[in-house]
Order: sequence, then C-alpha cells, then structure tokens
Amino acid sequence: MALIVQKFGGSSVADAEKIERVAWIISEKFSEGNDMVVVLSAQGDTTDELIEKAKEINPNPSKREMDMLLSTGEQISGALVAMALEKLGIPVVSLTGWQVGMQTNTEYGNARIKAVSAERIKAELDRRRIVLVAGFQGINRYEDITTLGRGGSDTTAVALAAVLNADLCQIFTDVEGVFTSDPRKIPGAKKLDEITYDEMLELASLGAQVLHNRSVEMAKRYNVKLEVLSSYIRKPGTQVKGVTKLEQSKISGVTIDANVSQIALMELSDQPGVAFKVFQALSRERINVDIILQSVGRNDTKDISFTVAKEDMERAVETLKENQQVIGFSEVTMTDKIAKVSIVGAGVMSSPGVASLMFEAIYDARINIGLIATSEIKISVIVEEKDAERAMAAVHAKFFET
Ligand code: ASP
Ligand code: MG
Repeated sequence: MALIVQKFGGSSVADAEKIERVAWIISEKFSEGNDMVVVLSAQGDTTDELIEKAKEINPNPSKREMDMLLSTGEQISGALVAMALEKLGIPVVSLTGWQVGMQTNTEYGNARIKAVSAERIKAELDRRRIVLVAGFQGINRYEDITTLGRGGSDTTAVALAAVLNADLCQIFTDVEGVFTSDPRKIPGAKKLDEITYDEMLELASLGAQVLHNRSVEMAKRYNVKLEVLSSYIRKPGTQVKGVTKLEQSKISGVTIDANVSQIALMELSDQPGVAFKVFQALSRERINVDIILQSVGRNDTKDISFTVAKEDMERAVETLKENQQVIGFSEVTMTDKIAKVSIVGAGVMSSPGVASLMFEAIYDARINIGLIATSEIKISVIVEEKDAERAMAAVHAKFFET
C-alpha cells in the first residue's frame, strides 16, 4: 500500500462528465488499497472569469479580497468531485487550504508556503477516506485566505506530497506529459519518459508551461517523485526526478522564449570597471539581465550587448542614458524583434558536439545567430523574431527527427 497524491488541473474538472471521469481515476488507485490525497484546481476558466467579475465591480480591488474571491473556484471543484465519489459509494471528504493547515506568508496573490500541519489529512486517511484538497490556497498569520500565484495548485500538490512523504505525486493535465518541444508548433515533438528536475526548471522558465515552476523547485528540494500525465489518455506520462537513465538523445527539449529584447552599448572605454558600472545601474533599477556579450577591444573601446525582458527594455535604455556620463559610451541601441531559441539537456556540457549540431541546424536553415549563451544544461541563441520558429523546428529535427 502506498500514499499517492494526485492533482487534477482545471481542464480535467471542467464539466460534470469530466468530473465523473476524475472520480473514476481516483477510485481506481483507492480500490487498489492506496491512501489518496487529491488536489483540485478551479474548473476550466473559472479563475479568469472571477478576475473579470472583480474588475466589473472595482478595477482596483485589494489583494486580500481578490484572494478571498479566487480561492472559491478550487473549493467548488473539491465539493463537486467529492459528490461524484460519494455517488460511487466511496468514502471521501473535501477540505480547504485552511482546514489542512496550509500556512503561507502574507503576500496575497503570490503567497509562499511556510508550513503544512496536515494533521486533519492524516486523521482522515486513518479513517480510510479519500482526502480532496482545494489547490492554490492557504492561510496566513492573520487567518486570512491567500493564493499561491497562477498555476499554484501544482505547488499545493507537491507541498502535500513532501509533508506526507508520499510515494508518488501525479499531476494530471490535458497533455500526455512533457514533450521535446511545443507539440502545437512542432508536429514531430515527442513525449519524454523522464526528465530531471533541473531540466524541467529550465524548460519551465523558457516557456514550457506544463508545471508551476515553484512546484518543481519544491519537488527537487524534497525529492518528491513527480509524474505528469493525461487525464484523458490512460498512458504513462513523464517522470520528473533527480537522476534519469542515460538518455538515447543528449538533450531533452528545444524551446522558444519570445519575451526578450536586446540592448547594445557602443564604444565603451576598454578599461576595468566599465561592465560593473553598466550592470550596477541596471540592477539598481531591478532590471534582470540575461545573456551578455562583450566584444574584443579595438582602439581602446569595446561594445557590450545584452538581453532583458521585453517589458524592461525601455526602462533599461532610459537608465543607461541617464548614466551615460558616468559609464561613458557613444551610443545605445535596442530591439525587441528577437527571440531566444534554447536546447536543454542534462548532458549538454558533457557531450561533445551538441553545440555544433545546434549551430549546424540553424546554419542549414540559413538563419543568423546573434548572441550565444551556454550553461551546464542549456545552450541559447538569439535570432530574429521572424526566424525563431523556423530555427526551433530545424534544431528539433536535427536532434529528434533523424
Ligand atoms: N485556478 C488557479 C489558476 O487558474 C490555480 C491553478 O489552476 O493551479 O491559476
Ligand atoms: Mg496548471
């Protein structure tokens, strides 16, 4: 007998028929004798609809009242799934974040979990009931309801799996698992059997929206065995874990991030301390810099190019202009007509030839590369926005479709 945490996303509980399906999936594992804790998201687009409703009344509501409102969606799902299980004659109880002791900090709308007491859950499991838990919500030290940020039910599930020392945490969603690329854009994208936490974190931050980033961070920290799988197609999904078997392919995925812009500073003096001045000015403004490239010096000057998120581009350029005297450069240019194409894989740095394969694919597609950045498990290139999808397809084909 095992303790299993399952989580069902909003699309999996969108209507009565889907809820019955979910009840049936839950009951299967329960009748095998396992202890079951199940986290639910709000049905379909409920959370978006609630946000719309709030705006009709007050365009600027307090964050406390927003959380009061948004947390209701998950509570509805819990009660409805409980009713579906009751109908099957299965002992079940649905609980809110408060009832399970999900304690968070006070940051309404994006609260972080601090501790989970879980006594109620353990007591209910001892009574051999399935425990349904409203995802995405907690309670702070003022005994107010908080929410964990959009997509936060994944994090609820992983937190419970960690605290309860679950044998497995299954995240049921509307895709079959984690893919080597976006299957809507790359028809040849393949489902991965397994992936490491670190790779998953890179994919998530690069725009693959399968799991809430914080849920993966937490799964890594507490070594929670995660599985992402479909609630429609009954097939094994993708396991997310610490170490994976030696992969046939050296990389796990190819992604695009369109939220990048590039800034270039011309003719900085080629002296110690110049880069420091540039990035200090930006960090004071809390602007995050991603890829940085410095040219070789010529005539005692050098250029520096770097990327920032699109929404930070103009503020970054303003900041640099304000500091032009102190930093010392002749010109600053910017563009947001670029995108970042990346490959992610635990073996990127340890397998020779990965970078050259990627560059070859992009060259074969006659696409020019701007900046390049590498890390232990990732290689990213900046290309023109109009070329980005073609670059991704070419790289994907090179690694996965030959
Ligand atoms: N219902 C929330 C959202 O839509 C939380 C979740 O689905 O995980 O963001
Ligand atoms: Mg989600």
